Amino acid sequence: MFPANFGYVAARSVEDALQLMAKHGEDGKLLAGGHSLIPAMKLRLQSPQTLIDLGTVPGLRGVSIDGNSLVIGALTVHADVASSELVRKHVPALAEAAAMIGDVQVRNRGTIGGSVAHADPAADLPVVLTSLNASFVAQSVSGKRAIGVDDFFTDFYTTALNANEILTEIRVPIPAAGTGTAYVKLPHPASGYVVVSAAAVITRQASGTCTASRIAIGGLGSGPIRAIATELGLQGKPLTTQTIAAAAAKAAEETDPVEDSYAGAEYKRDVATVYARKAIEAAVERAKN
Ligand SMILES: Cc1cc2nc3c(=O)[nH]c(=O)nc-3n(C[C@H](O)[C@H](O)[C@H](O)COP(=O)(O)OP(=O)(O)OC[C@H]3O[C@@H](n4cnc5c(N)ncnc54)[C@H](O)[C@@H]3O)c2cc1C
Repeated sequence: MFPANFGYVAARSVEDALQLMAKHGEDGKLLAGGHSLIPAMKLRLQSPQTLIDLGTVPGLRGVSIDGNSLVIGALTVHADVASSELVRKHVPALAEAAAMIGDVQVRNRGTIGGSVAHADPAADLPVVLTSLNASFVAQSVSGKRAIGVDDFFTDFYTTALNANEILTEIRVPIPAAGTGTAYVKLPHPASGYVVVSAAAVITRQASGTCTASRIAIGGLGSGPIRAIATELGLQGKPLTTQTIAAAAAKAAEETDPVEDSYAGAEYKRDVATVYARKAIEAAVERAKN
């Protein structure tokens, strides 16, 4: 399979990329790792006339700390997120999710920014970043703005990014002491993409009571969904096996999963409750340390 003919230009800076986007308009498309865009071009689902490569732009790759946040450059590849000492220390769920993406080749080329901008409903990182209450910094010629994760994923393959914006960094609040994070997924046996996945962020007092929780589920909708009933079922409660199981049983409430040849809606809802429980239990264990 070959894509339609296209032009290519390597941007030298974010400002240069923004100018190139303005010049090419709807005919131009940003290129990061190319691991979603190029397959889409080969299938002729997308046929941009010019690719504007961000891979050569300095300063968009790496993980650092700014105040109470981890800052991850949009061009950071999945393998670097998975192996980052900062990510593994502060938000192990994110390292866990990045390590589960595709295969070695995909993890060495695909980027966190490309993954969230593409917003595939079967992607891993949107789910875990939802549980972590991440925000996304978008830059245009008018300046920068931050978009909270609950407003970012708006539909299938659609985000709150405007056509004239580049995602430059992802900011992840460093969880408070006594917080554990975890991510689990049921991968599709052929593609490895998410059938259903669950991410949990749980804050636990020394007494064993849950003081805060964010639970996100993947595979049930057009993007990650917050399992609000599950979150409420944990908050202020002792984190016992019974409380966790009862809360997790509500993880798929009021969802209408898309059926496919591999998994029906009822199956996905059932798996969501099981995987929510697994993620919460793993996060609670980490919160104890
Ligand atoms: C064989 C295979 C298996 C895979 N398995 C999984 C999996 O198990 N789980 C999973 O989550 N994903 C999986 N993926 C997808 C992979 O994670 C991609 O790397 C990712 O979805 C896109 O990242 P990219 O850097 O390759 O982006 P690209 O393909 O370069 O770009 C994707 C889209 O995002 C836009 N974009 C990119 N960067 C920016 C930016 N900084 N600002 C604004 N827009 C931007 C592009 O214009 C394009 O529309 C798989 C891919 C392949 C090929």
